[in-house]
Amino acid sequence: MSANHSNEYSFFQGVERNFDKASKFTRFEKGILEQIKACNSVLRMKFPVRIGDTIEVIEAYRVQHSHHKTPCKGGIRFSLDVNQDEVMALAALMTYKCAIVNVPFGGGKGGIKIDGKKYTPFELEKITRRYTSELAKKNFIGPGIDVPAPDYGTGAREMSWIADTYASLNPGELNALACVTGKPVSQGGVRGRTEATGLGVYYGIREACSFAEDMDKLGLSTGLKGKTVVVQGLGNVGYHAAKYFQGGGAVLVGLAEYEGAIYNPEGLDLEAVMAHRKATGSILNFPGASNLESAGKVLELECDILIPAALEAVITGENAPNVKAKIIGEAANGPLTPEADEILNKKGVLVIPDIYLNAGGVTVSYFEWLKNLSHVRYGRLEKRFSENTYAEIVNIIESLTNKRITEMERNIMLKGPDEVDLIYSGLEDTMIGSYQEIREIYKNTEGVEDMRTAAFICAINKVGVAYEELGIFP
Ligand code: NAD
Repeated sequence: MSANHSNEYSFFQGVERNFDKASKFTRFEKGILEQIKACNSVLRMKFPVRIGDTIEVIEAYRVQHSHHKTPCKGGIRFSLDVNQDEVMALAALMTYKCAIVNVPFGGGKGGIKIDGKKYTPFELEKITRRYTSELAKKNFIGPGIDVPAPDYGTGAREMSWIADTYASLNPGELNALACVTGKPVSQGGVRGRTEATGLGVYYGIREACSFAEDMDKLGLSTGLKGKTVVVQGLGNVGYHAAKYFQGGGAVLVGLAEYEGAIYNPEGLDLEAVMAHRKATGSILNFPGASNLESAGKVLELECDILIPAALEAVITGENAPNVKAKIIGEAANGPLTPEADEILNKKGVLVIPDIYLNAGGVTVSYFEWLKNLSHVRYGRLEKRFSENTYAEIVNIIESLTNKRITEMERNIMLKGPDEVDLIYSGLEDTMIGSYQEIREIYKNTEGVEDMRTAAFICAINKVGVAYEELGIFP
């Protein structure tokens, strides 16, 4: 998919193009801009792994795009489409993403060029552990160096293999668990990380839909209730985003997985679709829904909000004219080619860019990293203190008013925050605050015509200041 990302630009060139478009609205000298844009370090590796009776030579990458803040941070992808250009582009997006949501990391990304579905768990474990050893050999992993996370084709299981391999190569390192995020909770993970990106997508689009002025322009009312939504890709990001949209009162009218797409203008029940897929091996032929002629056609459905949550370059110069959505939420990285972006901006579609919208994952990864470094669960110290304080307040109110509240009301009012409550709160605040910051830039910078450019300006300003304050070696 990434090989034919665009007729004119590779994925990385597309990112550079967006950067150049935005950098004109910043005050930084050419050298600083060149340094922000450049990919600092690229590690390309090949290593052998015995699979059954044969030895397979695996191709893999890790890219550190920026060291203006360390460690570097970014997911690891398992996909046959992995190539150097793709990993460089994804690492660059990570730098801008972290800056936008004020997460103090440089951008990084990793990829292993495999189809994860073709291997047994044991084989995947061997590949992942060997990849981790290669990173360790070259000093490309560590709590203060470079901290991977899940991405396309990987999840908590792979992250725990990485953490364990790193820990065994670094015996006694107190902070070893902070070498990777997205781990299972039992292995040093944080509650709320699995759903973080999808939940962040939901918070971000909900915030975008709260501005009457912006919704008026699209011919939409404010709020998510009743808005029609289409989601492409029901993996970690897409599934959770769809779940929160349905929970928030939106109507899921179209869903797609790699085997095909389904449509029902009356709405699709997400859990029922997932159960149907588990039972039959496919989302197709879901009762009450119609199958689309191809999975890609889902992008052209009539809807208010379109959420591509699979891979890059799915909306191109060719299909962009057929897109009918009024809002596109880029849950995936780079789902629009530069040509598509131009066409959709001209059409007046509100494109909420990846470098903001899918930053929920890295935001909660940051919280996980902090938890690992502090060696204490969020909420452990304050939960009981908060509950006791709330109880005192309720008791005072009851005695002053001579009224008693019910047991249920008391339970609601007294509940102190658990770890997951604090994580969701930090994520929600981040997604709302960052949207408002980007929107302000969009509204107040003459000549800026789209939210992506505004988001890039926001990122460049923050990374640029960091470089200036860091000083450049003579
Ligand atoms: P995932 O592997 O969990 O899920 C991706 C899903 O997309 C899979 O179920 C796959 O079968 C499906 N898919 C593949 N091709 C498709 C097609 N043509 N049509 C429909 N569905 C298709 O991956 P993920 O972690 O959900 O990542 C998805 C996207 O989100 C990627 O672009 C990734 O870089 C981005 N992202 C992920 C995270 C994260 O925390 N996992 C964070 C930020 C951004």
